[in-house]
Amino acid sequence: MARQIAVLAGDGIGPEVMQVTLNLLQKALGDRSSEFSFQEALVGGAAIDATGSPLPPETLKLCEQSDAILFGSVGGPRWEHLPPERQPERGALLPLRKHFQLFANLRPVTLYPELAASSPLRADLVRDGVDILVVRELTGGIYFGQPKGREGSGPDEKGYDTMVYHRHEIERICEVAFTAAAERKRLVTSIDKANVLTTMVLWREVVTEYAERFNQNQAADKRVELSHMYVDNAAMQLILKPSRFDVLLCGNMFGDILSDEASVLGGSLGMLASASLSSGRKGFGLYEPSGGTAPDIAGKGIANPIAQILSAALMLRYSFGLGEIGNRIDNAIRAAITAGARTGDIALPGEESISTLEMAAEISRRLDS
Ligand code: NAD
Repeated sequence: MARQIAVLAGDGIGPEVMQVTLNLLQKALGDRSSEFSFQEALVGGAAIDATGSPLPPETLKLCEQSDAILFGSVGGPRWEHLPPERQPERGALLPLRKHFQLFANLRPVTLYPELAASSPLRADLVRDGVDILVVRELTGGIYFGQPKGREGSGPDEKGYDTMVYHRHEIERICEVAFTAAAERKRLVTSIDKANVLTTMVLWREVVTEYAERFNQNQAADKRVELSHMYVDNAAMQLILKPSRFDVLLCGNMFGDILSDEASVLGGSLGMLASASLSSGRKGFGLYEPSGGTAPDIAGKGIANPIAQILSAALMLRYSFGLGEIGNRIDNAIRAAITAGARTGDIALPGEESISTLEMAAEISRRLDS
């Protein structure tokens, strides 16, 4: 039976980078492309214009019937006047995350040595490139813990939130991080604040126990080394020596902050993809670029398609167990960059830049080799 992918291109540069990604995906899949069906649906501002809702019921239904969602990006100045709950991002992405219980967010941050000059860090700090996977727990922790609220008045008025993690929540995010690490450089750095927070004492204990169990069941060449780091130190080390990290395993709040910090190391939002995996349906995920709709360049045909293409590669790896094809796509991107292909966002001043279509073509022809 064909496996179905819901394609939600959205607004701004979304449709531009989605189209070239779908073409490339078909090519990468080769004979296997007949096993997949791609079904497009409206989302975000485009859906508001057509139906009044940023996430129409038919779009949600299509997603429910699919095995993965390949998402573009949503929003733009045209819809900014709407009340928050009807805005494209709040009204589409948040409900999708909730509906599909997307508990694990994965953000690969790659800085190829050839692009070191587009990183905000000094060249000697990123000489070895950066290749980090931030694995962030997305549905627990202080953002959702109860009780939270505000009470009182005057000088005693207070606001409060509760940081809470259950053992099962920590274990299931460990599974994502360790499984991913086993296929990478086999190093997990677990981020916590166990010197101050009781929640994080439990976090550290559970992660340590999980690592022992995981390694007992692995062949020697898949065992993963675990280290622990306080979040404040991690914030510094990401700047001082980013090449030391492989997989960063984080709770919700620390992951929120560190994944944004790590993301700028990659040089451009146009290079950053993300995956959000479901706890409700094994293998189901939503895959999207980390950036937005880039209204400043939308319609000009110059957006960098790499983030969207990398999102598709993540989808092959995590939803369809086709890591080898995902790797071929990654390698083709790398080869195009090494050969000097640059869209405007990653070109240095004075360097020639190419269009979205040209970048996709540069990557596509390297899929063959
Ligand atoms: P943005 O990510 O759209 O743009 C920030 C900068 O990065 C811009 O200069 C843009 O040109 C550049 N950029 C982003 N992606 C690029 C790409 N692929 N190639 C080349 N350059 C790229 O962020 P913003 O300007 O703050 O937001 C614009 C709109 O996107 C807003 O409506 C916002 O709400 C929405 N947004 C949506 C998502 C999402 O759908 N997940 C995420 C963030 C922002």
